[in-house]
Amino acid sequence: MDIKAAVVREKGGPFLIEDLQLEAPSAGEVLVKVMACGICHTDLIIRDQFYPTPLPIVLGHEGAGIVEAVGAGVKTVRPGDHVLMSFAYCGTCSSCLEGATSYCWHHMEMNFSGKRYSGSDWTIPAPLSKKCDHGSPEPINGAFFNQSALATHAIATEENVVVVDKDADLKTLAPLGCGFQTGAGAVLNTLRPEVGSSLVITGAGNVGLAAVMAAKIIKCDPIIVIDVVPERLSLAEELGATHAIDATREDAVAAVRRICPDGVRYAIESTGNPNVLRSAFELLHARGVCGLIGGSKIGTEVSLDMTHLLFGRTVRGILQGDSKPKKFLPQLVKLYEDGLFPIDRLVSHYRLAQIEDAVADMKSGRTIKPVLLME
Ligand SMILES: [Zn+2]
Ligand SMILES: [Zn+2]
Repeated sequence: MDIKAAVVREKGGPFLIEDLQLEAPSAGEVLVKVMACGICHTDLIIRDQFYPTPLPIVLGHEGAGIVEAVGAGVKTVRPGDHVLMSFAYCGTCSSCLEGATSYCWHHMEMNFSGKRYSGSDWTIPAPLSKKCDHGSPEPINGAFFNQSALATHAIATEENVVVVDKDADLKTLAPLGCGFQTGAGAVLNTLRPEVGSSLVITGAGNVGLAAVMAAKIIKCDPIIVIDVVPERLSLAEELGATHAIDATREDAVAAVRRICPDGVRYAIESTGNPNVLRSAFELLHARGVCGLIGGSKIGTEVSLDMTHLLFGRTVRGILQGDSKPKKFLPQLVKLYEDGLFPIDRLVSHYRLAQIEDAVADMKSGRTIKPVLLME
């Protein structure tokens, strides 16, 4: 079928809106008419080729829409269902068998190879191509997080779509499948602080602010947020932070120590900066836990004081908020609908054709979470 999609053709290059062809869904796959898709830093990391995903490619992994058709063997998803899309996993490795699907051994091939997955084969071309006037169609890479949802239509799979109520607000909920579940899940699924526990969150982007909302839900106290953008810090306070620290104006570590002289029980590091991770670790109370949720360039190292570590402290990497999307996303939808997870405060909408403006606003900090609308 004919679709429109945002194509990245060169390293660091623009997202170009092009007319492409999308194949029908194969066995286990579903065709989704995309209503909305968030833009995540991971899309930009691949655009900039920090990881060697092949180009040209259609990115986008925070898609939401309506199922138009299903492939053979699909049982739990029907045409007409409203769905949120999330990450891909194999379902058969030991992480998947233990329910820890975000740590699938095949996470990189399944989400970042640009190819379609079938069985144990990751070399099948993506279902995308571009008509060529002189000769055979040009193959386009895709299947990014088994969706490539920066497009009017996407092929996902039965496993990575989550059916939601037909009145759910897809245009706001689209980023649940990556950014928002990452921040909220780090608190609600992984760290699970007791009521009244102290928590520091470094970085007030969409992931850090989702963690703030989750920390408010389970009544962490204090909830301390550190960032360098005053507008983000005021928003963090409106969303539940009890203290907001501007690291450009004061020594953030000293400021946290004034609030919690014995250290904090929990920390969440969302910037991916090794110096910030080290500071978050140093702020921990004995037996405190620091969850790392911010991505960094492959090979980035951090040094930690081993004696400080010996006192029961933990640094824990967390992918996708330890989310099992089919269980966790409906919970987040309910929290949003009940007014307890107000992600609409973080979302700004753009049309697909405005994708370059959306990316620029995200980079400048003017927009926290851009979501593209496909109509
Ligand atoms: Zn993402
Ligand atoms: Zn797996």
